[in-house]
Amino acid sequence: MNCIAIDGPAGSGKTTAAKMLAVKMGYYYLNTGALYRAFAYQCLEMKIDINNTEKVISCIDEINIDVKFEGKSNQRVIVNGKDVTDKLSLQNVEQSSSIISSIKEVREKMTKAQQNIAKQLDFVVVEGRDIGTVVVPDSKFKFFLTASVEERARRVANRLKESGVLDFSLKQIEIDIMKRDERDINRKISPLRKADDAIEINSTFKNPEEVVDEMYSYIAK
Ligand code: C5P
Repeated sequence: MNCIAIDGPAGSGKTTAAKMLAVKMGYYYLNTGALYRAFAYQCLEMKIDINNTEKVISCIDEINIDVKFEGKSNQRVIVNGKDVTDKLSLQNVEQSSSIISSIKEVREKMTKAQQNIAKQLDFVVVEGRDIGTVVVPDSKFKFFLTASVEERARRVANRLKESGVLDFSLKQIEIDIMKRDERDINRKISPLRKADDAIEINSTFKNPEEVVDEMYSYIAK
């Protein structure tokens, strides 16, 4: 498998850079966060209390997640036969995905699904939190993106504006990002961390083109 792993915290610029790099290389682009979001969305639809770990675990087999591609970098996410892609940026889905992603059984199911999809796609840029460490540890290239919390909050706010959401507070976004960081970094299973052999890129003062150029220059070398 020819995999390029891109990991990093929320708002570090992974999605934009991963998509652009995939297009530049002619690779597929797989967003693994979307699978966790889809799982959380379905829990909310089924009125499962996502803070009740046992309840979430008992429903795992009822939630079937699949992806389909409309072009190599346009992933759609299907849950129990329904396309839920357009629901995944809702704020309650985002926060809930961060909570359910610390459950071991959920991670095992998601990891297996991601590994199968990546294997089928073969030439693929995979974006997430644990791609270089757990999902595809033998990725040919691994990048770990970082950025300051303030800059990450600003990017998340811009994304919300673009999707038509205007009633948010930047301070609250910063707080939510820090909460997500805390959960991602401190969870027992597959925490967010840089793989030893990953190249770290701080994107705080870089635009997406500069980040992608930096990645591409490592790959071309
Ligand atoms: O990347 P995104 O913000 O869409 O991910 C949603 C949530 O899914 C994150 O907050 C993170 O907790 C979780 N996630 C994960 N492992 C991945 C991708 C996402 O734990 N590989």
